[in-house]
Amino acid sequence: MNEILLVDDDPYQLRLLSRQLATLGHEKVSCCDTPSSALAVLDAPDAAIGLLFLDLNMPQMDGVEVMRALAGRGYAGALVLISGEDSRILETAMRLAFAHELNVLGALPKPCENASLAALLDRWQRFHRPARQAAGKTYAPDEVRHAIEHGELVNHYQPKVELATGAPVGVETLVRWRHPQDGLVYPDRFIGVAEEHDFIDALTRRVIRDALDQTKAWRDMGLRLSVAVNVSMDDLVALDFPDFVLDELGRTGVPAGDLILEVTESRLMKDPRAPMEILTRLRLKRVRLSIDDFGTGHSSLAQLRDLPFVELKVDRGFVHGGATNPTMGAILTASRTMAQQLGMKTVAEGVEDLGDWHWLRDYGCDLAQGYFIGKPMPAEELPGWLTAWEGRRAGLACDRSLREG
Ligand code: C2E
Ligand code: MG
Ligand code: MG
Repeated sequence: MNEILLVDDDPYQLRLLSRQLATLGHEKVSCCDTPSSALAVLDAPDAAIGLLFLDLNMPQMDGVEVMRALAGRGYAGALVLISGEDSRILETAMRLAFAHELNVLGALPKPCENASLAALLDRWQRFHRPARQAAGKTYAPDEVRHAIEHGELVNHYQPKVELATGAPVGVETLVRWRHPQDGLVYPDRFIGVAEEHDFIDALTRRVIRDALDQTKAWRDMGLRLSVAVNVSMDDLVALDFPDFVLDELGRTGVPAGDLILEVTESRLMKDPRAPMEILTRLRLKRVRLSIDDFGTGHSSLAQLRDLPFVELKVDRGFVHGGATNPTMGAILTASRTMAQQLGMKTVAEGVEDLGDWHWLRDYGCDLAQGYFIGKPMPAEELPGWLTAWEGRRAGLACDRSLREG
């Protein structure tokens, strides 16, 4: 999965881009001047394409149709859109690619600038997740249930830092399945199964218990970090859930205010009374509530109106690349202003590069989370990350004084 495929009807663009890629050290590049020949390359049994550059405007079959074909084939590599069209069209095409759940790295206007191209390739190499290749595979309910019961789920933790100072303030818990054959499996492959077959509650309790044990272990080492756990509104049906959480807080001695529940609304909720009761009771006990993926269909203004959230997590679709996108700037400003008026902190997720970092800090966002700061990692890697971050943090502060001076 380390080969690159270029698809463009213009032979000149193909030559230009492959030359640019070669200069950047990428030699395993194939070129196709029609979408049909490109799809044939992808369908070959020994295909190893991990990155596809796709021109949007082609006569035979346009890039939008190709994206549909890619999604239909379960193409798991990365995708970069290229086009001579205006930036709004490119952005809309990106959204569409996201909606198809394609792994979109970015969009480049033609001709591609060397620096932007290099940045995209760098991200491809750093964040390419081979475990994602299993995308599309779902698991049988019994397998997932077995994994929960037999301790095959592990929590990874992703750091959250304060933008103004770079100070680490907490972690978000992201569950993974250490699958005996398939390696590390990401939550999008099994959370849905657990929800559909009604054992998400057991999964959530497992994740919370482990996360609080870990938070206690860090506290014992002198590290005080808040810990966030993901829950979906419609997972919250068991009315004894608040008692479970309070018991676990009591058992581990972690203060209620150090636990954050990141809430999303993933399906059409039949009856909001149970989740509202559960979340309100937990908030009364000082557990913090965060509205996750804010701005997407899963997180609405109605939810914001109805529940006592203290934190708003701006979805990563409104974060990465915002510095050069006025639409995203407007959305971030509106979200932050609203959060401020409601006395909530704003967290940006999906902070992937220094450009995102500066932009968010200048816009007065409170906290940041993303690959630029640290990827989700096993608990034992966190102390090493903290040490490395202290060094980088000093650099960022220094960079700030240079910019302001
Ligand atoms: P989320 O809560 O919005 O989590 C953030 C997701 O973005 C994580 O994916 C994380 O690895 C990824 N991410 C973090 N930084 C970056 C970045 O800079 N760029 C990009 N492109 N992505 C970034 P992950 O771990 O695959 O989790 C996906 C979703 O699965 C989570 O979205 C959350 O909704 C759900 N999930 C994870 N753990 C649990 C859980 O224990 N229970 C439930 N119900 N859902 C969970
Ligand atoms: Mg979350
Ligand atoms: Mg999120």
